[in-house]
Amino acid sequence: MGAVEVRNLVKKFDGSDGNAIDGIDLTAKDGEYLVLLGPSGCGKTTLLRSIAGLEEPTSGEILIDGEVVNGLPPRARQIAMVFQSYALYPHKSVLGNIVFPLKAGRMSKAERETKAREAAAMFEIEHLLDRKPRQLSGGERQRVALARALVREPHVFLLDEPLSNLDAKLRTSARDELKHFQQRIGTTTIYVTHDQVEAMGLGDRIAVLAAGKVRQIGTPAEIYDHPTDTFVATFIGSPPMNLVPRDGHLVGFRPEHLLPVEVVTSEDRARMALAVDRIEYLSGDRHIHGTVAGVGEPTKVIARLPSTVETPIAAGETHDFAVHRRQLRFFDAESGNKTEPIALGA
Ligand code: ATP
Repeated sequence: MGAVEVRNLVKKFDGSDGNAIDGIDLTAKDGEYLVLLGPSGCGKTTLLRSIAGLEEPTSGEILIDGEVVNGLPPRARQIAMVFQSYALYPHKSVLGNIVFPLKAGRMSKAERETKAREAAAMFEIEHLLDRKPRQLSGGERQRVALARALVREPHVFLLDEPLSNLDAKLRTSARDELKHFQQRIGTTTIYVTHDQVEAMGLGDRIAVLAAGKVRQIGTPAEIYDHPTDTFVATFIGSPPMNLVPRDGHLVGFRPEHLLPVEVVTSEDRARMALAVDRIEYLSGDRHIHGTVAGVGEPTKVIARLPSTVETPIAAGETHDFAVHRRQLRFFDAESGNKTEPIALGA
């Protein structure tokens, strides 16, 4: 129960030139936490709203629990959606908000309240039931919105940037909570964000979208370690993957894999001289911004050294760096798509 499948979905808004969704195929497996990640305007929200039944696709199919749901209204789809704004009813109490989705059904008042209290207990907000939304913190409001979404026992949870109104610290704890609840409840969840840190932390799998298409879908580790193209390689990771041109190819390597040569003990390494422009200290790491001349054309790169690497390095100097060959990635310079490894001189 609860799998979502999207087949060759296209959405073109009236009066716009391109397709907001341009032929998307993807599946969220039963119980999976699937994150839709991509830059602003890539079609994430439109895809989520199409699954919810709030947007009618131009073509293609959407299946929930193996049934085609195109044409079904949102309430007939066994889904619950939580928006960025939470859209709580300001004049109702927390209990009134959570109970509300049950009012359309046939339950007695007492049954409805029992269900609502159970949902509140799930999100540890029983002590807030008499309050109004304005008397809650951002994190508490989020939990009310989730409890309200959960109360109808949906097969699928659709979440659209639910953490974006929270400050950085609360965001981290709310993210952990969300993951914890989802693991406990096991409801298939599709989660939209443009924040890669959130995506990496939450997703069982991540679908990276750009311009209405899926560029790559995979586990956080697959996406990070084996990006399918230069878009994914540079969209994921902070700082992003370094890309250095070489013989019609781009050679890619993560900043944490570019290390002073004396630290890279293997002989199977690509060596490059780094002219150091400046050094930043971030969370104990040294970010070395520099220019490489040793591989292809002079190109700006960043090396991220953990505090365990104590090699003295100063701005204005040139220092030899290296990357293990197995950590090099190769992309076609024209298309940006990943290619087989090419031989590089030492
Ligand atoms: P963001 O992260 O900024 O919310 P997104 O990835 O969710 O972006 P969408 O909101 O799905 O992107 O929008 C995808 C494209 O469709 C954009 O180019 C947007 O301008 C367009 N679009 C969205 N809604 C409509 C609409 N109702 N009418 C016309 N165009 C729309």
